[in-house]
Amino acid sequence: MPVRLHCEAHGVTVRLGDGLASLTAAANGGLTARTDHNLEIAADLVILSIGVRPETQLAKAAALTIGPRGGIVVDSHMRTSDPAIWAVGDAVEISDVVTASAALVPLAGPANRQARIAAASIAGRAAGFRGVQGTAVCGVMGLTIASTGASEKSLRRAGLGDFQAVYLHPGHHVGYYPGAKPIHLKLLFRPSDGRVLGAQAVGEAGVERRIDTIAMAIQMRATVDDLAEAELCYAPQYGAAKDPVNLAGMIAQNARNQDSPLAGWSEIDGADVLILDVRESFEWHAGHFERAVHIPLGQLRDRLGELPKDRPILVHCAVGLRAHIAVRILRQRGFDARNLSGGWTTWRHVEAAAESARAYLPEPRAVPPEPTG
Ligand SMILES: Cc1cc2nc3c(=O)[nH]c(=O)nc-3n(C[C@H](O)[C@H](O)[C@H](O)COP(=O)(O)OP(=O)(O)OC[C@H]3O[C@@H](n4cnc5c(N)ncnc54)[C@H](O)[C@@H]3O)c2cc1C
Repeated sequence: MPVRLHCEAHGVTVRLGDGLASLTAAANGGLTARTDHNLEIAADLVILSIGVRPETQLAKAAALTIGPRGGIVVDSHMRTSDPAIWAVGDAVEISDVVTASAALVPLAGPANRQARIAAASIAGRAAGFRGVQGTAVCGVMGLTIASTGASEKSLRRAGLGDFQAVYLHPGHHVGYYPGAKPIHLKLLFRPSDGRVLGAQAVGEAGVERRIDTIAMAIQMRATVDDLAEAELCYAPQYGAAKDPVNLAGMIAQNARNQDSPLAGWSEIDGADVLILDVRESFEWHAGHFERAVHIPLGQLRDRLGELPKDRPILVHCAVGLRAHIAVRILRQRGFDARNLSGGWTTWRHVEAAAESARAYLPEPRAVPPEPTG
């Protein structure tokens, strides 16, 4: 959602949930694009940015095995089904580091590393390619979007349902040093063993550095404990003593050890949940859930009697820190409390996405989706 808002702030109309149905020549010499929802858009130039498919004609002619994703099947030495032929790059299908599924990742990094492995293999060395994880970065009018490893969608597609998401919105450097920009970071990890599965981040500064760090962690099969312990660069103009990567690991640790379990924003409509907003009054008045109970964190210890012990309490603040403290207070006193991951900031992104969908799609969605990026 931050990407969409950023594009719209720069005068770009973004239409999601629709597709291109046809392109026809217009009377004025331009083009008319028609969408699946029958919207006509006049255009001078149309750029289709819809992914790539491997060109495997040559491989098929050589009777090489082609995989389920349409790429040339290779082993970890980049050798094809014909032992005298190696293949690398966009045309090969290779194992995903996280999901172990066959993956097509048409990026220059994997292609170059695979070429080195193939050359070593041809020369008789036992080098092996570790797999792909889709580490990628993109710039959009001053905003950086980056990701590595699995997304919720790819985990579900691979049948790997044991994962949890952490949302956080720290500054790219400490707030007391001028110019801090928020990084909206999502980390996916496996609660059962803490393994880091994927991460996505958006922001104006410092985004790719955090994703690169997590990318290395994923390749080394690291856990959220490793992220929490990572020793990273810090001086005020560059980062924070608890870097966003450390914070993501610490939040996941707190969730795993039940100190501060997390809740997702899709859970707020649960039948018997109570939503507790621990922000200050001025924040509450700027926007809140109608059905939330408002007790600012500073008053919580004196007002515990207002809260039920027989219902799950989902606590939120602006980004998650005060809610974490509230969850600790409540859990130490026997309440079933969890922290709504990423706080009101995450909710605003979820809501804005749902509002956009409602405004555009013929059928409004009943439940706002969890953000995917
Ligand atoms: C516009 C653009 C921007 C990109 N930007 C990025 C980026 O920022 N970051 C990133 O990671 N990736 C980027 N990529 C993707 C990246 O370029 C590819 O993933 C990478 O080049 C793949 O390497 P490759 O060796 O598989 O294929 P290629 O680099 O395409 O090399 C294949 C070569 O084989 C030749 N060839 C094809 N058929 C035959 C034949 N029958 N006989 C002989 N030669 C043949 C082609 O002419 C070509 O030279 C970009 C791609 C494009 C198109």
